[in-house]
Parts: sequence; structure tokens; C-alpha cells
Amino acid sequence: MNRGERPELLWGFGLNSIEADKIEDSLGPGFFLRNFSERALPGEKEFLQPEKPSATWIPLRVWNELSEARRATYRKLESTQRILIQDESQKKVDLESVLEDGFLAVVSSPLTSSKVQDALFRAKEVSGLYGDLYRMTEEIIMERELLSRKTEQLMFLNTVLSNATERLEVSDILGQAAEDLKLLLPVLSVQGVFWEVVPAGKQTEAEIFVNPGLIPAVQAEWTEFMIGSVTQLSGIEVGGYNISETTPVADLAMCYGPTGGRVLALPLISRGEKFGCLVMLCDKSVRLAKDQVNTLNAAVNHLSLALSNALMFTKIKTRADRDGLTRVYNRRSFDERLVEELRRHQRHNMDLSLLMVDLDHFKSVNDTYGHMAGDLVLETIARIFEETFRTTDFIARYGGEEFVILLPHTKTDQAKMLAERIREKIESKNMSYRDVNFNVTVSVGVSSVRPGSLAKETEIVRKADDALYIAKEQGRNRVVVSAASAARLKVISA
Ligand code: GH3
Ligand code: MG
Ligand code: MG
Repeated sequence: MNRGERPELLWGFGLNSIEADKIEDSLGPGFFLRNFSERALPGEKEFLQPEKPSATWIPLRVWNELSEARRATYRKLESTQRILIQDESQKKVDLESVLEDGFLAVVSSPLTSSKVQDALFRAKEVSGLYGDLYRMTEEIIMERELLSRKTEQLMFLNTVLSNATERLEVSDILGQAAEDLKLLLPVLSVQGVFWEVVPAGKQTEAEIFVNPGLIPAVQAEWTEFMIGSVTQLSGIEVGGYNISETTPVADLAMCYGPTGGRVLALPLISRGEKFGCLVMLCDKSVRLAKDQVNTLNAAVNHLSLALSNALMFTKIKTRADRDGLTRVYNRRSFDERLVEELRRHQRHNMDLSLLMVDLDHFKSVNDTYGHMAGDLVLETIARIFEETFRTTDFIARYGGEEFVILLPHTKTDQAKMLAERIREKIESKNMSYRDVNFNVTVSVGVSSVRPGSLAKETEIVRKADDALYIAKEQGRNRVVVSAASAARLKVISA
């Protein structure tokens, strides 16, 4: 022991003088043994003292006499290693119960110097091992926590990826993303804006997706925010925009405006170009750890891919469903929709009407003003239809200069009124091509199916066609209601 160093403190519990002397003699001046008498063993007060004994020697006869409560207290002592002294005369204790009681070493009396030194050495060694084990266990627990967090994040990404790739519509992907992203952070709503990448200096058209059911003022705030984001992210000015709604999946707080929380506007990138922005509204208190930011970025990359595919899909689908010249639906879409509407009509007992519109003497329009002028007329008429009819009505180009308009929830008399309205609008519309002005007229055939009737798809079309034929026969520029529908009209008004 070096000069100035304090001797190492040891405790003894009820050691007899032979045992105490032997321990002190064996270990030398580097150690100081404080032996408590059996009737005055240390309690809470002694345990709190700053100087803790490095080892405590306890004879088995003393240990056996302790109350269970006392033993429990001593078992919990972590600052000292306990060494059990066993009498030669006593029955050997089994190792398991010694370990259970938390003794780190056992020594049998009569004590000898080497036994004492050896027992203390072993106790210290075991205690060191315990410390190492404890630290290792702690490290393993931490690694496990990290691993389970990583697993959670991977599962989250898997959910986002598989949900996004399962959906083909932009509105569905955004609706589902709101639900999935809630697993990572407190999301209130997810919306988005997409744009066509155009050459510098040109304006772009933006496709804005907002949550359904927003009050007009809130929708206007989001629209402004998203148009601002387009220019901020891409440097492109927005010339015009379209608003669609996302598909809600769960009860999210979708009614809030941009000031209702913290807005995260994340750019969407495909083939190295920004084509959109995911606009997330989160709880104001949101704080993301670094690994969560990484996970969020990975999720947004997945969503980018799915959304750019969905946009492509929509574009291709529009091409397949629409007429290239007038951009209203084509004949094939009309045939499909007619089947759907008739089914709905029969299931829900609702009215359904059809207008068939044909341009009068259109051949002579082409002959007089040229085919290009004729094309322009077809486009203009399609726009008049779009202005006049509701979004639930279905406008299609049926053939060359013939259009059909399917009107759900519309009775014959209402259909006739609408037909008359478009006839007048077209008649009074000033057509102009290369500074030449002219007017065109249309003839319209109207037919309806009654609630409860089991009409075939072909019947409503044939009846409208028959009525149109009569309108042409009677001199054109007029509306004729199909005979069967007209008869019903008479019955109703009689
Ligand atoms: P009616 O009043 O009896 O319907 O006479 P019409 O001349 O309109 O009817 P007809 O069926 O004899 O001629 C239809 C014309 O419509 C012939 C065709 O050149 C023209 N047409 C059809 N599709 C297009 C198109 O896409 N563009 C142009 N410019 N003309 C078209
Ligand atoms: Mg015609
Ligand atoms: Mg025709």
C-alpha cells in the first residue's frame, strides 16, 4: 500500500475473533476489516455512507439466523461482494443456493491465508465479470431497440410502397398516403400539386389535388399555396390549373387550412426532374429525429414513383377515353357509360334521358369554308355542351358530326328544355374562321327511359335516333322528343 492511500474497507458480519484475525492477517495493511456483532448488523444508515466495503465476509451460521427480510435487503446490496464462510463441521451448502443468495465466493473454515486471499480474488473477479455482463446486456438492449425501430421503419416503408403501387389513380394514392404516413408522424392531411415540365419562359398547367369537403375560403388558401409551391420549386409560372379531390381513406382532420398546423411541402422527383409537390399538414408540435427524416424521404421517393406512374396512366387513359379533336368522351366510353347508367337507373329507379345532336348540312359547311373550319365548329360546339351541362352529365362524340349527351336524374320535359337551350345557343353562336363569319344549326332527338322500365341499352339510343330523323325530316334546327317519351309527356301534362 502506498503512503497516503486509504486501506480498502471490508466488512464482517458476526465473525468470531479467530476468523476476523485470520482475515486481517492474511490480507495485510492494505485492508481494514470492520466487524459488526451479530446483534448490531448494519442497516440502511450504514449503507448510505460514501465509503462502501469492497467485500463483506458472512459466516453461514450468521446468514442462517437472519430473518428473510434482512437477507432480502443484503441480497440487494450491489456495492459490496459477499463471501460466505462455511464451518468445517457444517453440511456443505449446495452451489445453487449460494449463487441464488448472491454470494460471489465460498470459503470453508478453518481459514488460511491462501484461502482468504483466494476467496477475495475470486469474488472480485466474478464481480468484474458481472459488471461486464451488465454492460454487455445494456448494449444488447440498446441495439435491440435500434433494430426494432429500424424494423418498424422498414415495415412502414413496405406499407407505403405496396399501397402506392396497388393504386392507379392519383387521388387514391394521396388519400392512402395520408393514412400510411400517420404511422410515422402526426399527419392531419395530405394534398398535392403536379405540373408538366415545360421549357424556360413558358407557363405550365397545374393539377391540384385538395381534400374533399373544404369550405371555399380554405380551398382557395390551399390553391394559392400550391400554385406558389410550383413556382418556388420549379421556377415555372402557372398559367392555368385544374382542381380535383383526393380520396379520403380515414377520418383525418382534412378541414384545416395551411395555418392549421405545420406544412411540409416535399418535392416529387422523377427522372431527375421535379414534377410535383406533396403537401402535408402536420401537428404543430411535430419534431422529426434524423432517422425519421431519412425514412420520410424514402417514403416520398416511393410515392414519387407511384404518382408519376399514376399521372402517366391518367394521361394514357384520357387519350383512350376521349375524342382527340373535341376532347369530349368517345363512342367507346359512351357505350360503357350507357350500360352503367342503365344499370343504375334500374337499381335505383331513377330517370334517365338522352340527347342525340347532329349538325345540320354540315357537309356544306366543310364544302363552303373548308374542313378546318368544320373542325373548329365541332370543337366550339363541344365547349358549348361543357358550359351547358352538369358535370354528372356525360357528353360524347358519337360519330363524325353527331354528339350524344346522357342525362341521369333527368325527366323527358327537363331533357327537352335542355335540348332547346343548346339548340338556341348554337344557332346564335357566331362562328368565325379566317375572318369569315357564319352560323350553324343542329337538330336534336330526345328520348328517356322511365323509372322501373327494363330498357335495353340499344332502345334509348334507337329512340333518340328516330326522333333525330324526324327533326331532320321536319326541316332541321329543331328538337323532337321520341314518340314513346312524348306520349308519356302528354299523359303527365294531361
Ligand atoms: P344533315 O343535316 O342531314 O345531317 O346533313 P349533313 O351534311 O350534316 O350530313 P351528312 O351525313 O351528309 O354529312 C356529314 C358531314 O360531316 C360529312 C363529313 O365531311 C362531315 N364530318 C364528319 N366528321 C368530321 C370531322 O371530324 N371534321 C369535319 N370538318 N367534318 C366532318
Ligand atoms: Mg349532319
Ligand atoms: Mg350525321
